[in-house]
Amino acid sequence: MEKKLFKAESKRLLEMMINSIYSQREIFLRELISNASDAIDKIYYKALTDDSLSFDQGNYFIKIEADKENRTIHMLDTGIGMTKEELETNLGIIAKSGSLAFKNENELKDEHEIIGQFGVGFYSAFMVADEVTVISKALGSDVAYKWKSSGADGYTIEPYEKENVGTEIILKIKENTEEDQYDEYLEEYRLQSIIKKYSDFIRYPIKMDVTER
Ligand code: ADP
Ligand code: MG
Repeated sequence: MEKKLFKAESKRLLEMMINSIYSQREIFLRELISNASDAIDKIYYKALTDDSLSFDQGNYFIKIEADKENRTIHMLDTGIGMTKEELETNLGIIAKSGSLAFKNENELKDEHEIIGQFGVGFYSAFMVADEVTVISKALGSDVAYKWKSSGADGYTIEPYEKENVGTEIILKIKENTEEDQYDEYLEEYRLQSIIKKYSDFIRYPIKMDVTER
């Protein structure tokens, strides 16, 4: 007998997932920071076995900025970045974890720090953002790409200018509705407290320019 594969309505599945596996919206920041940290760790692990790479701790960081006027959160990491193919597979296939693959390929033992494995954390961004843009330049590549998606209806990908290796993520924060408030995620103090709550253990500096009051 022929065995048939289940098909899924990806649009509905994505909506269902992001609204049910996470009990609180604020964890989107934890997920994106853990991805950024994983991306830096990957350079760190590569440098252990590749003499042409050096890992100077001072060059690696995560940066977060909120722009109230444009309703955006801008995140930047100096991690390993993604090639066009990696943008397509790691962000374009739900439940595909590039980090799990990295751990397997590099036979990392249990002491490693890489957090990712389920391949869904990234999509938590859509709990607070109606559009997500990812600009990335992979280690060893001299071209960069821009990936953009408004959620379940797919994504676009195109060549883009980016000077340094790493990844930038721009979240277009949703407008408030009668039931749901999103403005808080554009407040620096709110973002700081979320970072403190969930990302205190991250080994790389998380930089934020804070407006003086
Ligand atoms: P997980 O972290 O569990 O693997 P995610 O959905 O959070 O799943 O991310 C999917 C994949 O996308 C990651 O495994 C990684 O390969 C890639 N990725 C996400 N964010 C970044 C980033 N900032 N830099 C490099 N790769 C990233
Ligand atoms: Mg993750």
